Amino acid sequence: MNLHEYQGKELLKKYGVTVQEGVVVDDLSKLEEAYHQLKDSTGTDFAVIKAQIHAGGRGKGGGVKLAKNFSEVEEHANNILGMMLKTPQTPGGMDGEGKLVRKILLAEDVYAPDFDANEEIYVSILNDRERKRNVIIYSTEGGMDIETVAEETPEKVFKEFIDPELGLLPFQSRKIAFNLGLSGTAFKGMVKFLTSLYAAFTGTDSSMFEINPVLKTGDDRILAVDCKVSIDDNALFRHKDIAALRDEHEEDAMEVEARKYGLSYVKLDGNVGCMVNGAGLAMATMDMIKLYGGEPANFLDVGGTADAERVEQAFKIILNDPNVKAILINIFGGIVRCDRVANGVIQAAKNISIDVPVIVRLQGTNADIAKKLIDESGLKVQSAIMLQDAAELVQKALDGAEA
Ligand code: GDP
Ligand code: MN
Repeated sequence: MNLHEYQGKELLKKYGVTVQEGVVVDDLSKLEEAYHQLKDSTGTDFAVIKAQIHAGGRGKGGGVKLAKNFSEVEEHANNILGMMLKTPQTPGGMDGEGKLVRKILLAEDVYAPDFDANEEIYVSILNDRERKRNVIIYSTEGGMDIETVAEETPEKVFKEFIDPELGLLPFQSRKIAFNLGLSGTAFKGMVKFLTSLYAAFTGTDSSMFEINPVLKTGDDRILAVDCKVSIDDNALFRHKDIAALRDEHEEDAMEVEARKYGLSYVKLDGNVGCMVNGAGLAMATMDMIKLYGGEPANFLDVGGTADAERVEQAFKIILNDPNVKAILINIFGGIVRCDRVANGVIQAAKNISIDVPVIVRLQGTNADIAKKLIDESGLKVQSAIMLQDAAELVQKALDGAEA
């Protein structure tokens, strides 16, 4: 689950990470009060208006603006709140339709008084699955697109691997601060910043933190100016407070719908819809579809109880995607018997109109009875017992649809 910048900063602050302060505003009527609240704590008239959407590159799209006084704050807030913000990271990029800005963060101008005295640094923390380590990626080239930095000047991107059992060791944070060319107060500030940041990363069960830029100000303070946080969904059950931060407006509507029914669904770009029980089997099914020349349109795990209601919901979600040209159902009947699943599929297929070919592969307890049920149901559903056969039927159905 991803968080907004303002939410991420609140979490970081709880762990002692120093951040660019701000007040979130979702309605222009609250702007003046927010501005005065901020001004009282910063003591300057300057403020930055930052669009809150789940995408980076907001500055490039006009979603981050500096204002010198309240009338400029009003002007920028008017433009940004409610706009369709296009950034290189919103769907379709700068040519796409953009994302609706529902909230803005009115933030302190941390680059003042001498803009050129600031240094923008890049810091992120991720899991490196192959090494079974956490990794801090950092660079002196902050404020820019890190992928471009990594491509053009790879020698400027550093990695520090962290044993999750030992945590971030003091020598490691000193090494990072040193490699970033810091000294004196800024060096100490960075060591403290990294220590708190790492504690926040593990304490919130995050899978990704990206702070770009981390700012070294002219007076040697270290601040998180931007904040991208992804929390591991599988850990949300033990962070009810974080789970409550979910903003469904920012998520794929079908993924939100699927979650309501306990289905785990991820939309992909292909044309073969998949309905599978078990994540491992879902992955194997996607591999098999690709092996036969197709492209999966989604990942969908219906879970342990593939009853009629769930199967029906799953059909609806899959069919909502106009790219879907065929559906492959692959269920292993262990605890749930195949004939019950088959009846579920038949029931669901009667309740909703399905205008694409459906191929069902049921394996396990009562697989043969299930196949018979489907074959005799009168529905335009093809069945198979072997997964290869099913994948081949899918491909034939697709070829037939094209011809
Ligand atoms: P992003 O474009 O979505 O990555 O948003 P950021 O929060 O990283 O902001 C983009 C850019 O806006 C930063 O790299 C800065 O150049 C600029 N910016 C952000 N905060 C301030 C600020 O307080 N003062 C000034 N002058 N510029 C800022
Ligand atoms: Mn940024």
